[in-house]
Amino acid sequence: MIIALDGPAAAGKGTLTRKLAEYYNLAMLDTGLIYRAVGLKAVLKGDPSDNGIAIEAAKSLKPLDLEMKNIRGEGAAKYASLVAAIPAVRDILLGFQQDFAHNPPVGKSGSILDGRDIGTIVCPDTKFKLYITASLEVRTDRRYKELQERGEEAIRSAVLDDMKARDQRDSTRALSPLTPARDAKIIDSSYFNAEEVFSLAKKFIDSQT
Ligand code: C5P
Repeated sequence: MIIALDGPAAAGKGTLTRKLAEYYNLAMLDTGLIYRAVGLKAVLKGDPSDNGIAIEAAKSLKPLDLEMKNIRGEGAAKYASLVAAIPAVRDILLGFQQDFAHNPPVGKSGSILDGRDIGTIVCPDTKFKLYITASLEVRTDRRYKELQERGEEAIRSAVLDDMKARDQRDSTRALSPLTPARDAKIIDSSYFNAEEVFSLAKKFIDSQT
C-alpha cells in the first residue's frame, strides 16, 4: 500500500500522516523535510533561488541533513519553496522519494508520503490519494499556534503573509504545482478535528481496497 497525501502548508498533513501510518503500519516520509534541507543547505552557500547553488545542495543531500537545526522553522519553509521551484532540483529528489515509496523497510505494510506532488508526480499510480486542505485563516491560526508552542517568536500577520506567498509560489510554479490529483479524495479540514479527518481518510482508503 502506498498512500499519497498532498496539500498546502498547515492543512494537517503531518498529523494525518502519523495517524494513517500507525493504523495501516506504514513507513512515513515527510517530503517537505527534503526540500527544507536542500533550502537550508543552499542558503549556507548563497542565494537559494540560484539554480547552480540549489542543484549542488540537492545533489549532496544526505539522510542526516533531514535533522538539521531549524529545519521546521519558517525560514527553512521559505527557502524550501524557492529551491522547490527549480525543475532540476525536483528531478534529483524524485528518485529518492520513489525509492522510499516502493521499498518500505521489512515489517512495514507499505508507505505514506506527504507533500505537494505525491499523487500527481511521485506516486501517480497509487489509488490511495488524499488531498487535505483548509482555509487560509484556519491554516494561519494553526501555524501561529504551533510556532508559539515551540517558543518561537511570531507575528500573526507575518505568518499570514508568509503562508500566502508560499501558497502562491507552490501553486503557480511551472513544474509540479500544488494541485489535487484528478482521482484524489479532497478533505477540507477547516471545521474538522484530527480524529474526524482521520475517519474520513480511513473511510476513503478502505473503500479503495
Ligand atoms: O510541507 P512543508 O511545508 O514542510 O514543505 C515546505 C516546502 O517544500 C513547500 O512549501 C513546497 O515549496 C516544498 N515542497 C514541494 N514538494 C513536496 C514537498 C514540499 O515542493 N512534495
